[in-house]
Amino acid sequence: MPERLPAATQEKLKQRLTYYEDLGIQLFYRTRDTGIPACPEARSARADVSKPGSLHETPISNAFVTTAIPIEEPLQKTPAKPVIATAPRVLSSPTAQRIAVLPKVPEVSLFDAVNRIPNDTLLKVREDLGDCKRCKLHRTRKTIVFADGNPKAELVFVGEGPGADEDAQGLPFVGRAGKLLNQMIEAMGLQRKDVYICNVVKCRPPENRLPERDEIEQCSPFLLRQLDVIAPKVIVCLGACSAQTLLQTNRGISHFRGQWLEFRGHKLMATYHPAYLLRNPAAKSEVWKDLQKVMSVLGLEVKRGRSADAGKSS
Ligand code: URA
Repeated sequence: MPERLPAATQEKLKQRLTYYEDLGIQLFYRTRDTGIPACPEARSARADVSKPGSLHETPISNAFVTTAIPIEEPLQKTPAKPVIATAPRVLSSPTAQRIAVLPKVPEVSLFDAVNRIPNDTLLKVREDLGDCKRCKLHRTRKTIVFADGNPKAELVFVGEGPGADEDAQGLPFVGRAGKLLNQMIEAMGLQRKDVYICNVVKCRPPENRLPERDEIEQCSPFLLRQLDVIAPKVIVCLGACSAQTLLQTNRGISHFRGQWLEFRGHKLMATYHPAYLLRNPAAKSEVWKDLQKVMSVLGLEVKRGRSADAGKSS
């Protein structure tokens, strides 16, 4: 074997590495701490209600977290496997569209590496969470917002984190964005009690800021256990924060919104957050298209005339 690769091969390799890094795949720099928040691209969806701009307008800032997320005690049955941030895995079913720019990476994703807890229940998850003080959010929260809805749901919505109304009432999505989410659920021919609704973090980030990386690291193992217990047919990620957290990517949501992806054996669809829709009603039609795909997988009838226009007046 020659000592140096031919110049043309070196150039090809260089281009390939640059390409992977542009996609946020840091396979080659796993020990480098980027010091960036866990949802680098997203501004808080809740903050979007009152602030100008949009989630998908925010430029991709940097590489994604590539260090292993510390897992809570109950999840540490066996040491976690090495963790490598990957691009979202696109389902290859006929309904799934391929994302040309997202290559399949044959590595374990963060959450694939986390073991499932045998005989886990939502009650146990709630008990293990306890009066949680694992992160700084406990200092300013009023209530832990665990979840709402049907523990046997086929459809789970995952938001970002509680806002002021949720913090006050102890339930997710009960403010303005929640009302719009209810309308979206009803437009699908379902009721709120038919689905399960939860968030990436269970305590309100002050001033509705984005959840920070350490907060997500502490809280997401509980979300993961909730998802494992419920084992829904479909997970809908509402907004960039939840999609980027579950998919372990720093890609902007607009790159993979509306595509069927896979999360620990479940179908996952990322769509825009209802708070974003309150500021950008024109995006409702995109979200409605996404929800129609979800309906078709769940065997729900798509009725003519029904649409995510529900809520246009709000
Ligand atoms: N936004 C979220 O992401 N979650 C809530 O529970 C409420 C608003």
